[in-house]
Formats: sequence, C-alpha cells, structure tokens
Amino acid sequence: GKTTIGRILTKSLNCEKGLTSQPCNRCQACQAINEGRFIDFLEVDAASRRGVEETQQLLETVMHMPGSSRYKVYLIDEVHMLSKHSFNALLKTLEEPPPHVVFILATTEPENVPATVLSRCLQFHLKNLTPQQLSERLVEVLKKEKVKFDIESINQISRAGKGSLRDCLTITDQAIAFCNGDLSGSSISEMLGTLPYDQVYDLVESIVNHRPKDLFNDLRSISKQSVDYQKLMDLFLETIQLIAVMKISPESIADLNLQINRLKSLAENLDHQEVQILYQIGLLAKRDMDLAPDLGNGFEMAL
Ligand SMILES: [Zn+2]
Repeated sequence: GKTTIGRILTKSLNCEKGLTSQPCNRCQACQAINEGRFIDFLEVDAASRRGVEETQQLLETVMHMPGSSRYKVYLIDEVHMLSKHSFNALLKTLEEPPPHVVFILATTEPENVPATVLSRCLQFHLKNLTPQQLSERLVEVLKKEKVKFDIESINQISRAGKGSLRDCLTITDQAIAFCNGDLSGSSISEMLGTLPYDQVYDLVESIVNHRPKDLFNDLRSISKQSVDYQKLMDLFLETIQLIAVMKISPESIADLNLQINRLKSLAENLDHQEVQILYQIGLLAKRDMDLAPDLGNGFEMAL
C-alpha cells in the first residue's frame, strides 16, 4: 500500500480542483496519476538503483520546473536500499528542496535510513490491517467479481494474509483458480496446507476433554493429508489465544467467528493457568519442531 498512498498524496497535491485531502479523481491530473502516465510523478525503486551516479542523475531533474502541475513528486521506494553516498547526495537536496518538489520516501525498514535523512522527513507509520478489516474488504471484492465463497474461506484467507491486503488478494487469486471459482473453507485450507478451523477445534477439544483416542485418530487422518505442521501449530496457537480472549473479554471476539459456541465451552473447561500452559507448550514446540525426527512426529508429541 505504500506506493498506492504515494499516488493518493500526489493527487492531493496536484488535483486541478486545488490542494485537497479528497482529490476529485476526475480532472486530467487525477486521471493521469491513476493511469500511471503523469509526467511529474516519478517512481524510483531504490533496490535496483542504489548507486550514487543514478541518484545524482535523478536529483539533476529536481531543478526542472514541473510540466503543467503544481508539484513534482518523487517517490523513492525501498529507500533504505540506497548506498551511503546516495543518501549523502539526497540529503543535500532534502536540506534545501525547491518549493515545487515533494519527496516521498517509502520503506519497510526506517531503522536503516540515516538519522540525518529521517530528521528532514515527516513520518507516517502505516499499520497492518486487522483480520476483520481484511475480511470486509475481501467480501466486497469477491461480491463485485461475482465469485462464490463461504465465511470460513474468508477467515482462512484473511488470516493467511497476515495484515497485508495485497497478500490476501494474491492468495485469493490462487484460490479462485484452485477452487474453480467457488471458494470453500476446506479447499482453501487444502491449498494453504493447513486445516479447516473445525478440525483444529477437534484437536483442541480432544486435549481439553482428555480424549487421547480421538486425538490420535484425528492426527492419523491429518498425517494422510499434505499439511504444513508449522502452520498447523500457528492455528493451534491462534485458537488457544482466542480461548484466552474468550475467558476475559468474550465481547471482543469477532462476530465472524463461526466456532463461537465451541470456543465458549472450551473457555469454560480451562482455567487461566491451563490456557497459558497450552500456549507456552505450543510456542516451544513451534521453536523446536525442526529438531524432531520429523515434523509430524514433533507435532504429535507437542499435542
Ligand atoms: Zn482531480
């Protein structure tokens, strides 16, 4: 979303309706920016242009006035990749920028940008989206694209996206192909190498209700599928965490959670300490699973 936000800022600065936080998206400037053909918006990928000569070449164009717009905007993506000399060259321009120029420096590693550069910048920290926000957006997109889906599939994808809408959409793309346009929770988990949530709950319930035989039966059938045990342990941990939330603040559990009744009874059957111990065991197992004779073995031992 960094470059998308860069583009929105460019529109805000150059919209023909005037400087605005809500660019019109209709004027020539806005449309040109949307279509990626705005000559006063320069997007540079620092990862592939790290050298000082390339940076100097870029900075030489800074002095030229913008074509027909108010501001020339330079978006330097992954700016932390610039070499030390490049940063020094850039710093000179940042210290005395011409009034018609705006720099947008985007990075995932602000700690690797020199303090001298940072101190010249206004910093905005972009947050990850919550699973809830991702789910809402996914539902919107899938409805628009007329793709069939169930709630469980949305839950799976929004968790797998780990806060990034782009990753979510990439997974969704693969999922549409994998499921022939009809997304279901079970096929998504097959694709991701995880398990549907109801099967994860089966595992947790067998442990909590002291039913070792059921647990082994479930584990045996899991081992016949091609699951990723590390991811499975993540799901296990997420479930334990939800139980913890359920115990202290049930109203904070998202409405979208289909397993709410099972979650309630699990929370009733465990005390706080047991929840904490289960979580701890899961964390340690995740760390050490690679050392086990094989991952399935390590997972089984942990459970
Ligand atoms: Zn406009």
